[in-house]
Amino acid sequence: MVKHTIYGVVLFSVIFLGCEKPDDKQQSVEKMVLKGISYLDDLPISVIVEDGFIKEISRSVEGEEEPKYYLAPGLIDHQVNGYLSHSFIGDGLDHDGLKEITEGFWEKGITTYLPTLTTQTGEVLLKSFENIAQLLEDDEHLAQSIPGFHLEGPFISPEAGYRGAHNLEWIRDPNWEEFEKWYSASGNRIIEVTIAPELEGAMDFIRKCREKDIVVAIGHTAALTDDINEAIEMGATVSTHLGNGCANTIHRHHNPLWPQLADDRLTASIIVDGFHLTREEVRTFFKAKGPENTVLVSDLTRLSGMPPGRYEDFGQELVMTEEGAIMLLSENVLAGASFLITRGIENVIKFTGCTLGQAIDMATKNPARLLNLHDRGEIAVGKRADLILFEFQDGLLDVKKTLVGGDVVFEK
Ligand SMILES: [Zn+2]
Repeated sequence: MVKHTIYGVVLFSVIFLGCEKPDDKQQSVEKMVLKGISYLDDLPISVIVEDGFIKEISRSVEGEEEPKYYLAPGLIDHQVNGYLSHSFIGDGLDHDGLKEITEGFWEKGITTYLPTLTTQTGEVLLKSFENIAQLLEDDEHLAQSIPGFHLEGPFISPEAGYRGAHNLEWIRDPNWEEFEKWYSASGNRIIEVTIAPELEGAMDFIRKCREKDIVVAIGHTAALTDDINEAIEMGATVSTHLGNGCANTIHRHHNPLWPQLADDRLTASIIVDGFHLTREEVRTFFKAKGPENTVLVSDLTRLSGMPPGRYEDFGQELVMTEEGAIMLLSENVLAGASFLITRGIENVIKFTGCTLGQAIDMATKNPARLLNLHDRGEIAVGKRADLILFEFQDGLLDVKKTLVGGDVVFEK
């Protein structure tokens, strides 16, 4: 049903049309109209953006030309270790690198991401957080897309399989004093922590994280029902890449998967790149969690965007296969992913038969809710204008235009 809005008709005739902002900064109100097909219901929709925010939403007026592309909120990926040869670990990332990563994501419709720092020595983590925090201080434009950081490890299971590709040498029990140093180095930007709740001191650590409003995720864990339940009671709300960071051989009754799948208080993040989970696992997890409690993540590493071959990463030998899987040779385990979250959207539709709207919600609205990013993740009045226009054809998603905070940051 195409609804008429008189206000919409009047507004369309007077507002500034097009996407380039006027050069004159004195102009007090900057407006733009974006027209597209709603990702939620396949009907035409017009969104009016004013001063970087969504001001008005209306259905298109009868007789108007049908829009060509889908319109959706910008995508959110809360697990990104690196991209295009750049890693967030260490102090080697400079402004150009951060710009390349962020603009690379804008090209693909990802408007928000959390740089994710994995298990390292305390000193390296400290330097890494200091470095990225400074880069964000220096560039507000890029910082719009990076609301905080995700710390995955070093407080995870040391057991083979559960630890995945994390280096055993640096895995340890939770240490709040050490964490506080990283937190302060990050400019209080660590907004999500993945830990294994079975470790000594983990419950106290979770409680302290929650006092700072840090989202607590369970991951790389060998914990069973009691520890998982207690972690949830203490405030854990997410399972990090459920089904991964898990041993290949587990007890059929007592293992870390069932209690996480069974509890509705945990949202599951999943990597749907076709390597990390089978189609059947994705279908089962989706059925257990439902479209509102499932979140897509990429787990990209710096090898993403690089050609297949052998690589050395922090002293470990990795191989990227022709198909795009990244393996840590010494442990024969996957070491992050090479496909963007857009591949996850395409695959989750294929694997589960969910709608485009549900798949996009798993990479927009759901992570925004989970991470308390109340200013984004939906096309709603008052939200920041992080929007994408894209074509969705033959199961493939192709981004045509991206806006962040009302600015066009990519267009083709
Ligand atoms: Zn992991």
